Parts: sequence; C-alpha cells; structure tokens
Amino acid sequence: MIEKSLVLLKPDAVQRCIMGKVITRFEDAGLKIIGMKMVWVDEVFSKKHYKAHVDKPFYNGLEKFILSGPVVAMAVEGISAVETVRKIVGGTEPKSAQPGTIRGDFAHHSYHYTDARGVPIRNLIHASGNKKEADEEIKLWFKKNEMHTYNTVHDSHVL
Ligand code: ATP
Ligand code: MG
Repeated sequence: MIEKSLVLLKPDAVQRCIMGKVITRFEDAGLKIIGMKMVWVDEVFSKKHYKAHVDKPFYNGLEKFILSGPVVAMAVEGISAVETVRKIVGGTEPKSAQPGTIRGDFAHHSYHYTDARGVPIRNLIHASGNKKEADEEIKLWFKKNEMHTYNTVHDSHVL
C-alpha cells in the first residue's frame, strides 16, 4: 500500500520560481520526499523517460521543452502514492485541470492554443502514471544511495 512515485518539476515550474509552492502541495498532503535532485537532461535521457511517447506527433516539442532548462526530480512516498500524486497534480491539460490541483491552479495552457502555435503544452509537472511506470522511472532517475529512509511527523499518524 505504501508506494513510491516519480515527480518532476518541469523547466516551466523551475523558471517560474514556483518550486517551493509546488513542493509544498506534496508535503502538505503528508507525502514523503525520499529523493530529490536538479538535473538538466539530454536527448538520450529524455527518450528513455518518455519511451511511451517518442513516436507521438507531440514528442519533438515535448523533448525541446524538457531540455529547455533543469528539472527537479523527486521520489515521493506515501499510501497509494501514484494515485495520490496524480490527484494533487491534476489533468494533463492545464486549461481543463481541476482547480485545487497544481496544473489547475498554476497554469492554464490549452491544447487548442499550443496546437495552433506548434508549441509544447506547459504543464509544470510530470507524475508517474501507474505503479509499473513509477518503479521503472524511479530506477531510471535515482540510484539506490540517492534515496533515503527517515521519519517525518506524518508517520506517527499513518503507521
Ligand atoms: P506526465 O506523464 O508528464 O505526468 P500525463 O501522464 O498527464 O503527463 P502523458 O499522456 O503521459 O500525460 O503525456 C506526457 C506529456 O506529454 C504531458 O505531460 C505533456 O507534456 C505532453 N503531452 C501529452 N499529450 C499531449 C498532446 N496531445 N499534445 C501536446 N503535448 C502532449
Ligand atoms: Mg504520463
């Protein structure tokens, strides 16, 4: 039941200087950050991370976007962490993401707008889509010794 999920703060979140506000959303929900680092990925790594999307028409724009600056990678742990993180992050398109979610509150980019302009959708965050994806992504982004076991105040309310 206790799961890990991979969260990335994409270059727009870093460059808009809202990293703290975004990370707070996860901390406030009681999720535990067990790994965290800033990384500027290259084309090869992007293709590994987005292997499910490399053949899609939007991939080139997505790669350009993800390479446009450093990202912050976080391994996040909690009860049903994959689903919980996705709920906090909100839907892929900021325009239709629910208010109260990170994408709904901090962005409003739409596919209609980005498709017309040929630009990538700026949606602030990546979050693992399911448990299998989460396990693979955490392995890709973090070495074992970059992840940590420690207690937070939340543990006494959970365990
Ligand atoms: P993420 O994997 O980043 O958490 P997601 O799971 O909500 O997002 P996916 O379908 O996995 O969405 O797409 C991965 C990323 O590719 C999206 O976050 C977005 O940046 C981009 N993307 C997805 N669909 C489109 C699309 N139709 N047009 C443009 N970009 C897209
Ligand atoms: Mg996804």
